[in-house]
Amino acid sequence: MEIREIKEDGYERIVVGIDKDAGLHGIVAVHSTRLGPALGGLRMWPYKNEAEALYDVKRLSRGMTYKSAVAQTGLGGGKSVIIGDSRTQKTPKLFQAMGRLIDSLNGLYITAEDVGTSVEDLEKVAQSTKWVSGLSREAGGSGNPSPYTARGTFVGLKACIEEVFGSADFRGKTFAMQGVGAVALPLGKMLTQQGAKIVACDINPDNVARAKRELNATIVEPDAIFDVTCDAFVPCALGAILNDQTIPRLKTRIVGGCANNQLAEPRHADALQSLGILYAPDYVINAGGIINVSCEFDAGGYREENAIPKVDNIYRALKEIFATAKTDRVTTAVAADRVAERRLAEGPKSRARSMQGGVER
Ligand code: NAD
Repeated sequence: MEIREIKEDGYERIVVGIDKDAGLHGIVAVHSTRLGPALGGLRMWPYKNEAEALYDVKRLSRGMTYKSAVAQTGLGGGKSVIIGDSRTQKTPKLFQAMGRLIDSLNGLYITAEDVGTSVEDLEKVAQSTKWVSGLSREAGGSGNPSPYTARGTFVGLKACIEEVFGSADFRGKTFAMQGVGAVALPLGKMLTQQGAKIVACDINPDNVARAKRELNATIVEPDAIFDVTCDAFVPCALGAILNDQTIPRLKTRIVGGCANNQLAEPRHADALQSLGILYAPDYVINAGGIINVSCEFDAGGYREENAIPKVDNIYRALKEIFATAKTDRVTTAVAADRVAERRLAEGPKSRARSMQGGVER
């Protein structure tokens, strides 16, 4: 394999790997290991060219640094991509070659699942490197992250409700959920158990039927979700859905959900604030999955009972961000970045996690 190093300001390491025999054109970007080894998923996507892939992997790896810094996972930020079509171009050789590229970084970067890759693909990656997390419980990993992301989003919404309404009382409150997939379904169950009402939409008819059946949800057309009068708007589908067209339509006091990259542009955090809408920064409220995976690196390996209190800490993380936003007179999005940057400036609280052992299983 041909491995090429790219120097970029602000990034610790970026390596491009090309293995013609395996059909691999992949990139690993390590943004920061200041707080621990860089953990982030492996994305497979049909990027037009290397420049487009590089842009994406850099943006995503920096995002992981911030996410882990706020969530205090003891990990840094990194991400990797394979240029290719995940529907037609997956082969065992491809993922084994990607494993070799990851292995060349000697534990500086640890991979996981992401868009376009599955646990089965990661098992192939793990044939050539030990720096793989998020495998199944049977394979010694922490398993499906979605229920933990749901739990974290739930405690995050509790912090939001308390902030806006003065008490964490969900009874009779309406939550408008955009998308009712793997995270939103268990989240919806937690909300209804607390007496909340769900209005939902989805483009997948099976998921719509399931939400009606299991959440007793009122269903609206996908585009109509932005017009629902509610207490919290809960994005659980796509990115960039908070934009110039949708924000003026919102009739809510809170925006908080599991979707990644909800704001089309950073200025949309100001737009929400000026309408008096409390925004729970996406990378803070949706960190439950990464927090759960990070527990694979605990001494003695993954234990759910250690993961749960850390996921629940998202409640406190959001409270800290709301307080910082008030004292610094900034949006909650800026406040989240400030909390992350403060943690990065302070450095690791305890010794950074071991980079020697690989993932214990
Ligand atoms: P999922 O694919 O199971 O669920 C997404 C749902 O959104 C699907 O049911 C899909 O049909 C629906 N959807 C897509 N486009 C839509 C539209 N325009 N309108 C309405 N519904 C639409 O995915 P998931 O794992 O539940 O993740 C949801 C979001 O949360 C994603 O943005 C993901 O990146 C993010 N996230 C997930 C996790 C996790 O642990 N799974 C962790 C962090 C962030």
